[in-house]
Formats: sequence, C-alpha cells, structure tokens
Amino acid sequence: MTNWKHKHIIDLAKFSREDYLAVFELANRFKVLPITGTRKIPALQGRLITTLFFEASTRTRSSFELAAKRLSADVQSFSANSSSLQKGETPLDTALTYISMGADVLIIRHSSTNLSEEIAHYLDEKNINTSILNAGDGVHSHPSQGLLDIFTLANFFQPNNPVPDILSGKNITIVGDILHSRVARSNLWALTACGANVILCGPKSLLPEEFSNFIKEPPPGQKIDPIKNRGKVIIMRSLKDALKGSDAVMTLRLQKERMQGNLITDFYRYNRDYGITHENLKVCEKKIPILHPGPVNRGIEISSDLLEDNSRSLIDKQVRNGIPIRMALLYLLTTSKKHSN
Ligand code: ASP
Repeated sequence: MTNWKHKHIIDLAKFSREDYLAVFELANRFKVLPITGTRKIPALQGRLITTLFFEASTRTRSSFELAAKRLSADVQSFSANSSSLQKGETPLDTALTYISMGADVLIIRHSSTNLSEEIAHYLDEKNINTSILNAGDGVHSHPSQGLLDIFTLANFFQPNNPVPDILSGKNITIVGDILHSRVARSNLWALTACGANVILCGPKSLLPEEFSNFIKEPPPGQKIDPIKNRGKVIIMRSLKDALKGSDAVMTLRLQKERMQGNLITDFYRYNRDYGITHENLKVCEKKIPILHPGPVNRGIEISSDLLEDNSRSLIDKQVRNGIPIRMALLYLLTTSKKHSN
C-alpha cells in the first residue's frame, strides 16, 4: 500500500511523483471494476462523505457522489439555496455541523479562494480528523479536475499502460480564460509535474504575462518543490503558433461570472482568434485530441461539431475518468493514517 501523507487535498502544488503514481494506480484499478462486472465495492462501508457545494456544479458534485457510492460510503449533500446559509450561518459553521454528524471527508466548493484551506487549518488546529477535499475554490485550485485531465491524457497516449511519465516531453496547449480558471492552475501543476510543457494561449486580458512565472520553486507553502524536473510554461498569443507543435489542446470556458468589468465584450472576435474548430486544427502537425472541463459554451471556445466529434474530443472520457479518479482520492484520504498536513 502506498505511503500517502496528505490529510487534505487542497491543491496539486504539494503533490509528489509518488502521489500522482498512487492516484493513477488506484484509478486504473477502479476504472476496470465495471468491466469485470463489479460496480460497487465495500471499501468505504460506514464512512460518511459530504459534498458541500456553495457554488454551482453539474459534473464535479455528481461525480464525487457517485464515486463515494461506488465505494459503498454514505453520502450527504448540502444545498446552498435551501440551507441555513440563508439565515446567516457561515461556511465554517456549516462545515462544523456536518463534521458533528460524523463526516470523514468534506468535499467543498466555494467562490472564495482559499476557503477550503482555511477550514482545513481550523480542523488541524482543533485536532479534528475530517479531511477536506477542495472541489474548486474561486480561481485558485480544482485538484480532482487536474488529476482527471492528466489521467485522461495518459490514457490517450498509452491506453495499455497509462502512467504519469508518459506525458513527459509532451506539449499541451491550454487556450482561453486562464486568468479566471482554477482548472488551468491545477493543470499547470499537474502537467509540469509529469514533465509536460504547457503552452498557455489567450489574449492579454485573459492571460497576463505573469503566468509565464506561475510555477514557482518552491511552490507556495512548500520548503522544496516535491518535483525535481518540471516541464516548462510558455505563453503564446497566436493560436496558430500554439497549435502547430501541440500534442493535445485543452480549451476553457470564459468565466463570465468571475470577470470584473468587460474583459471580453466581443465574443465574435474571441471565437475568431481563440475558438477551436476543425478548420484551425489543420495547422497541427498531427491529429491531436481536444479536452474541455465543461460546462461548454458551444460556438464560443469550441465549435459544436468539434465538440461532438468523438475521434477528436476527449470530453466524454474526462467525465468518465472523473469517477475512478475521485474514488481513488476518497479511498486515499479515508484509508491512509500517516498525515503530514
Ligand atoms: N467546471 C470547471 C470549474 O468548476 C470549469 C468551469 O466552470 O468552466 O472550474
């Protein structure tokens, strides 16, 4: 059994090579369960997994809940609109209420950057055993999405042995609203940890130049970078140039709800310059796959026909792979004893 050290999963900056390997190894095992006719295993019987989503979600929340059920855990889910938040309760008090009911893992999504981390610190100070799994905190981090994305890519490049190392030396382009994307940030840590080079592509308003220094060594809150040789981060403004030598492209939704002011007023122009279509993929040196974390704005960041082209789009596989990846994370958090944070 793996030597898993994390009590909470807040971001991927702290992940070591061994952590990625542990997640992949379990996810690969969980992924084949339905094929062998086993839909559900009793691994987390009697455990309580609680989803605490203060922000909207379709995929992440259902995927975590299904993952917990496949491991036979009890699942509780909180709904912001019909909760005591309406009566002025704070997110911390809401979290503590579920902890009092015995939650082993709280899966939290909130619009505020670092809320998950603050709750995790509070629990550590009070010696409370519950783990926090960040399911998206503002623009900061969405670790399970980053993990399912690299898992999907590894499965694409080497289906018979999808290991993190297979991404080493690959050029993965992320296009669009990087500034407001926690998915892009988690992918930056995850992809570079596997040795992939990340090409960030977008207009200056959505991709400030500072992103070329995003990968700091050591990562925030760490004394040393747990990863020895990270891949590079490169900024390109021209989609054509970015796509040319790419091995895969991930496009992102324009996060209008997080934009202050009119960062993007002209969607026609954005689509012309950064929208992914069959036509502009012709510049690629090979037939590359397309990823998107969803939800998609059809016809803005990606054309409808490309979205539905299963010979190109890995979007359906991203959704499917989310389940074994999240099973792996819940399993690791609830069954490992040695915690360093
Ligand atoms: N579902 C992803 C997230 O929660 C991406 C998005 O919303 O565009 O960050």
